[in-house]
Amino acid sequence: MHKNDIIIIHGTNYKEMAIQVFEQADVAGEIGDTKKSVALKPNLVVAAHPSGGATTHSELLAGAIEYLQAHGFFHLSIMEGSWVGDVTTSAFSAAGYQEISRKYNVPLIDLQKDSYTSYEAKGMKINLCNKAAAVDYMINMPVLKGHCQTTVTCALKNNKGIIPNAEKRKFHTMGLHKPIAHLNVIAPNDFILVDNICGDLDFEEGGNPVTMNRVLGFKDPVLCDSYVCDCMGYSVDEVPYIRMAEQLGVGSTDTAHANFIYLNEDQAEKGKFKMTRRVQNLARYADPKDACSACYGSLIYALDRLNDTGLLKRGLPLISIGQGYKGQTGEIGVGQCTCGFSRSLKGCPPKAVDIVAFLEENWI
Ligand code: SF4
Repeated sequence: MHKNDIIIIHGTNYKEMAIQVFEQADVAGEIGDTKKSVALKPNLVVAAHPSGGATTHSELLAGAIEYLQAHGFFHLSIMEGSWVGDVTTSAFSAAGYQEISRKYNVPLIDLQKDSYTSYEAKGMKINLCNKAAAVDYMINMPVLKGHCQTTVTCALKNNKGIIPNAEKRKFHTMGLHKPIAHLNVIAPNDFILVDNICGDLDFEEGGNPVTMNRVLGFKDPVLCDSYVCDCMGYSVDEVPYIRMAEQLGVGSTDTAHANFIYLNEDQAEKGKFKMTRRVQNLARYADPKDACSACYGSLIYALDRLNDTGLLKRGLPLISIGQGYKGQTGEIGVGQCTCGFSRSLKGCPPKAVDIVAFLEENWI
């Protein structure tokens, strides 16, 4: 896999989707020697079930483990340190990881209880948990979601889970952005499997999940988080730690020259989307007909951006979205399926950042 590759798969069989992303990336080939230790680093910031939009789905861990064990890797572990206000062992239970650990005989490691060592990270001293630093190959498994302080959170910020609690507190007193960027100079990011199944609208702790039903694969954490900005309707410059990490040589923000590898096409959502009241309030501006999850989710994120700037108001025409509009005409639509409409945004699915620009110009 190249550093500018972005692997995308849609669906609801999350375990199988994870396996397919690993196969496409040839992670086993890259690790090489089966004696090497491999760790999975999910996001368990809080003790909460993944359906709430905060934590990594256990099915993705199952997929990663089945893939690795099928390729002869048995020196595996799942490691995480929840945020300061929560206990990692409770988070392991709430997210269903105890069952995964038992089923596959893979230990759970609570990094809140680990010792640590101080490292020089290009002008900043940062303490890193020893067990995380000792791993031969680290698979970062963040959730794509919003964050009340840093706007978005994904690969770069997920590495806050491999530092001790005292260091996490220090990061907050420093305003998060600069230390997160420097942390990623020393944090292992060998492969990144992103849980884009139902990450939260704007809050790290979850509560307003947005169904996207996607899993993504990256080598570059900066490219990953830059793409996350596109997906949630932000510009990279609204999330300072991403550009800082690029300047420190961690990776590239250049999504325009990324190589997108689509393993399948999105499917129209058959059942009703599960929505909290807040997400429903955004969805009332849309008129979906057989919309695919990632398409509809992108529109929800875009509407949230417009809501942030006070641009949503009553009386606006409903935005058509979904495969049910193929071959039809109408006023305004989002996605390739509405290409017969007088105002329509191309893309299948379009990114939230493009939807925001389109709606600002054509709808409000
Ligand atoms: S444009 Fe149509 S087919 Fe493409 S993702 Fe959107 S709803 Fe699905």
